[in-house]
Amino acid sequence: LGVGLALGLTACGSSEKTIDKERANAPVEGALIGVTMPTRSSERWIHDGDNVKKQLEGLGYKVDLQYAEDDIPTQANQIDNQITKGARLLIVAPIDGTALTTQLQKAADQEIPVISYDRLILNSPNVDYYATFDNHQVGVQQATSLLVGLGVKKADGSEGAEKGPFNVELFAGSPDDNNAKYFYNGAMETLKPYIDKGTLVVKSGETDFETMATLRWEGARAQARMEDLITRHYRDGAKVDGVLSPFDGMSIGILSALKSNGYGTGAQPYPVVTGQDAEVASVKSIIAGEQYSTIFKDTRKLAEVTVQMADAVLKGQKPPVNNTEDYDNGEKVVPSNLLQPVIVTKENYRKVLVDSGYYTAGELQ
Ligand code: BGC
Repeated sequence: LGVGLALGLTACGSSEKTIDKERANAPVEGALIGVTMPTRSSERWIHDGDNVKKQLEGLGYKVDLQYAEDDIPTQANQIDNQITKGARLLIVAPIDGTALTTQLQKAADQEIPVISYDRLILNSPNVDYYATFDNHQVGVQQATSLLVGLGVKKADGSEGAEKGPFNVELFAGSPDDNNAKYFYNGAMETLKPYIDKGTLVVKSGETDFETMATLRWEGARAQARMEDLITRHYRDGAKVDGVLSPFDGMSIGILSALKSNGYGTGAQPYPVVTGQDAEVASVKSIIAGEQYSTIFKDTRKLAEVTVQMADAVLKGQKPPVNNTEDYDNGEKVVPSNLLQPVIVTKENYRKVLVDSGYYTAGELQ
């Protein structure tokens, strides 16, 4: 290892971790790659898993793809098993970003490189690369679409005609998912000037991450909190005009809570509700004029970048990286590749989702 690593570092002259030459030069044809995804309960992860597997197999690799149904010990076991089965590289989308330190140490001890997928693995030096979307930008886009939906801003970024005041309520994602904070920060930075000047009013006053957070991104939890917010803060006849939701599965729950409180009728239309992931149920809801927007993150492209990274790492080449500053996992800044997310509304869903072949028109009917 010592010699290999030294050679790797000299040859490359960079501080990014390189795997030892002996291992890199060993034939990687047909090598086993372990892929662990958080859950099948959200479609996006199914697309991610399918795309990564298909593309890796296309390059001749064997793939062990596992889902942990949001159970942290299950995911840790799956990674242990993949190491035991001889995986040469691991691709991991963690459930709890902080819970895999032991597994990753084991991987490092056996020189198994690790790529963090979509969500950053925290508190471990043994994460080699990170493939994701620009998570801060996702939050900015969610907040921007809320403002555009309310008429406060125009889609071209200029100020809109509406000055409010609009009542909005805000939701954040799972506190153990590093992405949730990025979405929150991007969104709050965008909304803050409008809250400060009174265009937006958060009637509940719940604007800090902890009160807005939704463990495991659960739709049922978001639904219960929305019910509770309405009960506690909207019994005086005030109406909810907008809801910042960071994930489609939560948006569906939030819309249900609103519906059972009389929203979604001609007299009382739904507020502007945002989302993320362009899941089928939410795109249908957008087409039906219920949910206002979602953020599309093309999982085909994320898979492509990740597979390029994996292939390059295994072949001792330089993986595609476009960011070496923003993603500090508590132990190191992880070299990353960030893709661009896209706002989707009723106006552009056809172009973005159907014309691109992500969904067929039939799937959205
Ligand atoms: C992902 C989002 C997803 C959320 C819930 C986040 O880590 O980046 O795309 O909506 O998890 O699954």
